[in-house]
Amino acid sequence: MCGIAGVFNVANAQNLVANILFSIQHRGQESCGISVRTESGNVLTYKGMGLVKHVLLPQILEKYSGKIAIGHVRYPTAGKSNVVNSQPHSIELAEGAHMSVCSNGDIINYSELRNELETEHGFTFKSDNDGELIGRLIAFHHVVHKKPIAEAIFETQQQLKGAFSTVLIYRDTMYGFRDPHAFRPFSIGHISWDGEGEMPSEGTVFASESCAFGIVGARHVRDLEPGEIVKLEKSKPMSVVKISPKKRQHCVFELIYFSRPDSELFDEYVYDVRNKIGATLARMDNDIPAGDDLVVISVPDSSNFVALGYAEEKKVRFDMGLLRNHYVGRTFTRPDQAQRDEGVRQKFNPLPGFFKGKRVILVDDSIVRGTTLKKIVSMVRGAGAKEIHVRIGSPRVIGSCYYGIDTPTSNELIAAQKSLEEITAYLKADSLKYTPVDAFQSILKHFNRYCFACFNLDYIYQPADFSIPTKRVN
Ligand code: 5GP
Ligand code: MG
Repeated sequence: MCGIAGVFNVANAQNLVANILFSIQHRGQESCGISVRTESGNVLTYKGMGLVKHVLLPQILEKYSGKIAIGHVRYPTAGKSNVVNSQPHSIELAEGAHMSVCSNGDIINYSELRNELETEHGFTFKSDNDGELIGRLIAFHHVVHKKPIAEAIFETQQQLKGAFSTVLIYRDTMYGFRDPHAFRPFSIGHISWDGEGEMPSEGTVFASESCAFGIVGARHVRDLEPGEIVKLEKSKPMSVVKISPKKRQHCVFELIYFSRPDSELFDEYVYDVRNKIGATLARMDNDIPAGDDLVVISVPDSSNFVALGYAEEKKVRFDMGLLRNHYVGRTFTRPDQAQRDEGVRQKFNPLPGFFKGKRVILVDDSIVRGTTLKKIVSMVRGAGAKEIHVRIGSPRVIGSCYYGIDTPTSNELIAAQKSLEEITAYLKADSLKYTPVDAFQSILKHFNRYCFACFNLDYIYQPADFSIPTKRVN
């Protein structure tokens, strides 16, 4: 998973891009980078491993200054974890010019397309990254087939199978485009000034999530349509180059876990969907007797809104029984189980005395491997809880994601391997309930616009080596 940013026609656009990236840091914490078109017409790229605040330092941003800039935060799903695979990618074009590209999403037919460019057309690649493939395909259509850049983008968009929300700088223009299924979010914002200060009048902003607009003073205008290509050029309003949509496949996991609760995407408010999931779960729960000893707690921060929605519907007290240490990095992508277990212990701690004698409704947004909840149930039990009823804001995750989320293979997915009873026993919980797929769908404004493949194995594209995991009934 990753995040993208673009700022057009704003003085010191690089500073705004850095701020946008800072707001969408949750989408990728491993590496980040920016490309800026300077006043002299060069496109400079700077990237590094680590967080935005550690890589895009003020002295760097001062050097990389211009009115046109794009940027990226990376959380590796495909390709090795190194700076070569970080984005944006600078791609040479024939006439000595180059463009810069960055993208969020995974391309299913990556190997096939790369192979063709390498063996049949003599292209060389620097990285193993999907963003570079997108850039090289555009270069191929532009340089070899002599297509104007907008057409080259369109041709590329038609060839790629998978998820891509992409921004690029080409000369003094910027393009934003999205795959025809619109798997990943992509929002457009507008900046205007009332004449005060030394700022120019109008500017356009691209971001993976609308939560980034506040920090740069932009207004959320709309999201890119499925298959849409837009162009930004000097002294003109944004123009739509083309829209070639296919069946929408918005990633439902963005609403469950990935996006920030203050974002608005897929025509939904993220916090509102999470609240409604909680309320739905609460309505399914008629067998936990009320009482003063009953408390709803979240596994902060990802399930806070689900837990709040549950507590409000059930009229049970919501409280923060677990403290989360915000200085612990990602635990999910640590390479082995021992390190992931250790990460959960570092990250959460129960409030002293809080759980003694309580019956706890413990709400989390999802279970993937089961690492987090196994540790937390044992922690809460150890802290004195009498009963622990685990409630999950998503359906059972039974399939991997091929479109940009780092789900492990199905032999590591606990719900693909174990029955509900077996998972309950594994977690040592008193009871366990997930949100069923149909209940989840009833919450959404347009349930038929989503990809639910990780819950129902209904994949629109599959990699060549794909084998359907066994489906479990409960
Ligand atoms: P588990 O510990 O069961 O393997 O993973 C579930 C927990 O990790 C949940 O608390 C959820 O908030 C979080 N989670 C779910 N999906 C992802 C993901 O793609 N990346 C990261 N970093 N965390 C995730
Ligand atoms: Mg979590």
